[in-house]
Amino acid sequence: MEKRDLLYTGKAKSVYATDDADRLVILFRNDTSAFDGKKVEQLERKGMVNNKFNAFIMDKLAAAGIPVHQEKLLSDTESLVKRLTMIPVECVVRNFAAGSLVKRLGVEEGKELNPPTFELFLKNDALGDPMVNEYHVRSFGWATDDQLARMKELSFQVNEVLKGVFDAGNMLLVDFKLEFGLFHGEIVLGDEFSPDGCRLWDKDTRKKLDKDRFRQGLGGVVEAYEEVGHRIGVKFD
Ligand code: ADP
Ligand code: UDP
Repeated sequence: MEKRDLLYTGKAKSVYATDDADRLVILFRNDTSAFDGKKVEQLERKGMVNNKFNAFIMDKLAAAGIPVHQEKLLSDTESLVKRLTMIPVECVVRNFAAGSLVKRLGVEEGKELNPPTFELFLKNDALGDPMVNEYHVRSFGWATDDQLARMKELSFQVNEVLKGVFDAGNMLLVDFKLEFGLFHGEIVLGDEFSPDGCRLWDKDTRKKLDKDRFRQGLGGVVEAYEEVGHRIGVKFD
C-alpha cells in the first residue's frame, strides 16, 4: 500500500488517498478543537493516543460484528481505513444528560436517560452542526430510510458493546458521536471513536476523562485520555 495525495485536512485529522481506490490513510494530528473550531490548540501526543485508542475500540466493535472502516494501524499516528462515501450527519447516543442536551432542555447534568436517546446533527461547521430530525435526513436525501434505520441500529449496538468496555474500567459512557458512510452499498462505521468524540466519567468520582477537560479548560487532557486507555487495556507504546 502506498500513501498518495492529501485529500482533506479536517480539524483533527488529515486524509490521504492510497494506490487502492477503496482505501485511505487517516493521519491523527495533535490539533484539538472545540466550539466548531473556535478554540484550537496543539496537544502533545494526542494524535498518537487517539490513533491507538481508536484502533483498539474499532477492533472491539468489529469483534462484536459491527462493520467498521478500520483496517490496521500503520504507524503511531496513521491508520489504513476503507474509503467511505460519508453520510453528512452525526449520530449521537446519550446514556446520561450532558453538553448541548443540558443547555437545550435545561435538565440536570448527569441525569440518567432510560432508555438512551438518539439524536442527529448535520455535519456543517458554518452552521454550528445544527440538530436535525429523521425527516430532514430523508427529505434532503442525506440518507434513505433503510440507511437511517441501520445507522440507528448500529449506534445502539455500539452503545451496548462500549458501555461494557468502559464499565470494566470503572467508567460511565455518558454520550458519544458516530459518523457512518457507505462502502459498496453497505453502511459502515467511519471516522473515529476516541475521548475527543465521547464523554466518559469516572464511576465513583464522576471526574471527566474526555474532551470536556479541553472545552472547560480543566487541564490534563491527553493524560486523561491515556488514563482511559490504560484502564481498558489500550497499549500506547
Ligand atoms: P472534521 O471534518 O470534522 O474537521 P476530522 O479532522 O476528523 O473532522 O477529519 C476527518 C474527515 O474524514 C471527516 O470529515 C470525516 O467525515 C472523514 N472520514 C472519516 N472516515 C472516513 C472514511 N473512512 N472515508 C472517507 N472519509 C472519512
Ligand atoms: N460530539 C462530537 N463532535 C461534534 C459534536 C459532538 O464528537 O461535532 C460529541 C461530543 O464530544 C459528545 C457528544 O457528541 O460526546 C454529544 O455532544 P453535544 O451534543 O452534547 O455537544 P457539545 O456540547 O459537546 O458540543
